[in-house]
Amino acid sequence: MLAADLSRSKGAPPRVATVAALRSAVARWRRAGERIALVPTMGALHAGHLALVAAARARARRVVVSIFVNPTQFNEAEDLATYPRDEAGDLAKLAGARVDLAYTPSVDEMYGEGFATTVTVGGVSEGLCGAHRPGHFAGVATVVTKLFTQCAPDLAVFGEKDYQQLLVVRRLVRDLDLPVEIVAVPTVREADGLALSSRNATLDPDQRRIAPALYATLVETAGAIVAGAEPARACAAAAERLRAAGFTAVDYVELRAAETLAPLSAFRPPARLLAAARIGPVRLIDNVAVPVAEC
Ligand code: AMP
Repeated sequence: MLAADLSRSKGAPPRVATVAALRSAVARWRRAGERIALVPTMGALHAGHLALVAAARARARRVVVSIFVNPTQFNEAEDLATYPRDEAGDLAKLAGARVDLAYTPSVDEMYGEGFATTVTVGGVSEGLCGAHRPGHFAGVATVVTKLFTQCAPDLAVFGEKDYQQLLVVRRLVRDLDLPVEIVAVPTVREADGLALSSRNATLDPDQRRIAPALYATLVETAGAIVAGAEPARACAAAAERLRAAGFTAVDYVELRAAETLAPLSAFRPPARLLAAARIGPVRLIDNVAVPVAEC
């Protein structure tokens, strides 16, 4: 199974690309009674992904990182075509992170001929990114369900960066009785507050200068809401501030209940402030707890 990996760069984890090879590696660990963690990613790895790996490492003897740019969660062909990909760089970044296996299935391996099943999560999938990216969360829920049944991990690690996705996955696991513990990791940021994202690599220098306004605006708006500002007004002011900073379109800025994503017309903790905005072709998302927990 691992013969093809003899050429891999020093310290990089072995790589498998088929469900059968993944299952056989996992079965060996399972027989040895080892706890297994899965970190699902779409590659173009950065320090945010590595924080997820570290959280997995701290909780399990074995860590699998999947790298799969999932076409079914892209609602724009252009976005899929331009999504950054760097498998060799990714494997090099995983060297030293003590990852036991990189799982890199092809699209054909994941979605075989005649594939016709979709997992749809209601409730938390609706609104926010669900409203602006039709089909996105069904694509996420379907691939996550497949990754869970392919790998059968004890736990899986997700980032709060994609907060709505995290709640969709938690709902999915509860509703389908999937025997996987979901671990959440706080958002890793650049020094100027910009949340790390694979898409940041596609920002030109001017766009990169504008991008940190997203987090700064969320923090300021969260503070205003805690201080008594009416949420709808504060969110409208935030959208205005983002446009003034150079964002070309604001998909949403909204205050939601942190555990259910129910809309909140008045501040009631635990709450979450979430936003999505575009700078030209690049769509950025971010969110903060209200009151802000991470700085
Ligand atoms: P992606 O490769 O963008 O699909 O992300 C894979 C996982 O990494 C998801 O669970 C994301 O929420 C998480 N992630 C992405 N960016 C960050 C970040 N800046 N901090 C923490 N987790 C992140």
